[in-house]
Amino acid sequence: MPMCAHTTVLDYLEEIIQINHITLIHVSGTIYDPDVVNSQKRVIIINRSFQTSFSYYFRIAHEISHLLSDRQHDTYNFSQLSKSTAERQANLQGIKILADYYFTDEQSQKACWERRFAFIETFKLGPLTHLVEKVLNPIKKQ
Ligand SMILES: [Zn+2]
Repeated sequence: MPMCAHTTVLDYLEEIIQINHITLIHVSGTIYDPDVVNSQKRVIIINRSFQTSFSYYFRIAHEISHLLSDRQHDTYNFSQLSKSTAERQANLQGIKILADYYFTDEQSQKACWERRFAFIETFKLGPLTHLVEKVLNPIKKQ
């Protein structure tokens, strides 16, 4: 588990939520109702019953990312392409949020890269392994 023992991942995420004036709500919907955000009200609604393989922490980090990038997508007319782009961006940013917590500053990028599978396992990011590798890859691609 993380090196920074002074705070839990939930404390860390709640701090981001508070700083950005976001409200986190939990509901019990059906297993088919995904988590959603209301960008105007800056509310994240997590459905405790939603059937997903992702960790609770990643789900929150993903939804936080939607709200933090909100101004770039301030439209209701998402085409399917831009919607999937927004999802990919939220996945990437969500991974970055969790990586900032999980990997301490003193670790080299190479050390982070070598621990990527432990990170993926901790936050149940298996389906997004390619994105985790994009975020953690120590070789900068221009
Ligand atoms: Zn999303």
